[in-house]
Amino acid sequence: MHFQQRTIAKPVSCSGVGLHSGKKVNLKLKPAPINHGIQFVRSDLAGCPAIPALFNRVVDTSLATVIGSEGCIVSTIEHLMACFAGLSIDNALVELDDYEVPVMDGSAGPFTAMVQSAGFANQDAPRHFFILKKPIELIENGKQVTVYPADTFKISCTIEFDHPLIRKQTFSFDITADGFESEISKARTFGFLHEVEYMKRYGLAQGGSLENAVVIDRDKILNEEGLRYPDEFVRHKILDCLGDFSLLGMPILGHLVVHKSGHAFNHAFLEKFFSQKDSWDTRTVKSAFDAEAQQAKSLAI
Ligand SMILES: [Zn+2]
Repeated sequence: MHFQQRTIAKPVSCSGVGLHSGKKVNLKLKPAPINHGIQFVRSDLAGCPAIPALFNRVVDTSLATVIGSEGCIVSTIEHLMACFAGLSIDNALVELDDYEVPVMDGSAGPFTAMVQSAGFANQDAPRHFFILKKPIELIENGKQVTVYPADTFKISCTIEFDHPLIRKQTFSFDITADGFESEISKARTFGFLHEVEYMKRYGLAQGGSLENAVVIDRDKILNEEGLRYPDEFVRHKILDCLGDFSLLGMPILGHLVVHKSGHAFNHAFLEKFFSQKDSWDTRTVKSAFDAEAQQAKSLAI
């Protein structure tokens, strides 16, 4: 885990299509100063302000996570946000010339490669962390997100689908393990063929194809190359969670346990988390040893 803030060493860019818009979009990542956080800028709109990637800027979660401010929106931010969270990038400016982040191959792999090609720049300021004093939990209609106090940042996720190729899958990922690139970043988004056809009929998922999503029919996967991991579906859910929970604006020292959640429920959890101010503190942490000490102190209060 990183205890110092960091950004990218130089600007990098890419282009692709939006999953829902089907439109081509150019995306540029730029370094940003200490305490800037992640912000999105719509370079195609005159005078449009930057939108900070924070949960209180979320305006829609029905199909993807969408943030907005003063009439402009940026859609489908979750995979790029997961990349920043997974690689411990605190400060960056994201410039795009349309309203939807390109879907690339449906995972965070291409964004991760971009950030790695830019390189990392450590900044002379400590990172701020949420440190939990007690668990925070949201349970509704069989869905659950709970965060437990811990001295590292870990996500455990379970999904259940009544489909022979998925059923129940569970995966735990410890952000300290430094395995984001190999374990999580390449897991692609997925959808069922009947849902994809339905969305396309109504003008959604216009950019969706077998190039950027795993598509599942009644009893088979339509992508010729098959899966990238045997449990790619739950790994992708961890990717989505990493992106969504990063909208708290700073990393959590805690263990998030997520059961059958999605973007809307993740967002509802963030609102509950933020409103339950007696359950956490925000502090800087100097080292893994300090994280352990601060966590123990929080629980003792
Ligand atoms: Zn996703």
